[in-house]
Amino acid sequence: MILIKPSIEFLWATPDPLQAIERAGRICYKSEDKITDTSSIEFVKRLVARDHLAMVEHASASYRIICDRGITHEIVRHRLFSFAQESTRYCNYLGGIQYILPPWVDEKLLPGDLKLNSQNDSLEYEDGNVIELSALDKETAVWLRACGQCEEQYISLIKAGWTPQQARSILIHSLKTEIVVTGNLRQWMNFFELRCDKAAHPQMREIAFMLLDDIKEKMAVVFDKYEG
Ligand SMILES: Cc1cc2nc3c(=O)[nH]c(=O)nc-3n(C[C@H](O)[C@H](O)[C@H](O)COP(=O)(O)OP(=O)(O)OC[C@H]3O[C@@H](n4cnc5c(N)ncnc54)[C@H](O)[C@@H]3O)c2cc1C
Repeated sequence: MILIKPSIEFLWATPDPLQAIERAGRICYKSEDKITDTSSIEFVKRLVARDHLAMVEHASASYRIICDRGITHEIVRHRLFSFAQESTRYCNYLGGIQYILPPWVDEKLLPGDLKLNSQNDSLEYEDGNVIELSALDKETAVWLRACGQCEEQYISLIKAGWTPQQARSILIHSLKTEIVVTGNLRQWMNFFELRCDKAAHPQMREIAFMLLDDIKEKMAVVFDKYEG
């Protein structure tokens, strides 16, 4: 098994999103003649300040998110986004399973291909390095054992002839997955309001802040009110 950290990748967005929003928004006031090379910044700022958010729906952004299955289960609850997700029905993890390292587990375990040795209750890296699970804190050891056993059992089912869609029933929430999320900017605003909040799951917040930092770099005027 391989432990990795969650990550995000910007894929694409409406070209010149602020100009797109301004062009749509000025139709409301028939003030298209006021459009200049730089007018969109102040125009969109005013729209956002007045909560005239229907206009920001005219621009959208897409991200690829690498996180665990527990977190994508939460992301897909945002019904107005569009999704494409790695399928556990069709993807075969016979070669080994990747898991997302939760932020509360020591990063020292990264990186490397680890195999659980149930007899010695240890994890072995490909290069021969060994981690005795009893030397780790108890909860980390429980989590790593579960990841290792899940990998062993999944592979044994596939080798016995089960298809990935059958064997997936024993996969755990920490399984790494990838999802492409597309949404208009109003939908992303709703997402940040809910998922950057302290009430959100810590791994969800980890992803939400990565996304927020990135989108703020690209469209600060729309997302400035959210603190990264
Ligand atoms: C801290 C936290 C804890 C949570 N805990 C749970 C839990 O224990 N159990 C659980 O089931 N879920 C839980 N959720 C998920 C939550 O119930 C929502 O499904 C999720 O946050 C998506 O929110 P949303 O409906 O606003 O988003 P979207 O589905 O993207 O919708 C965006 C907005 O569009 C409008 N909208 C969308 N669909 C409709 C509709 N059919 N009718 C009217 N208006 C609509 C609403 O204004 C909505 O806010 C939790 C979420 C958070 C943030």
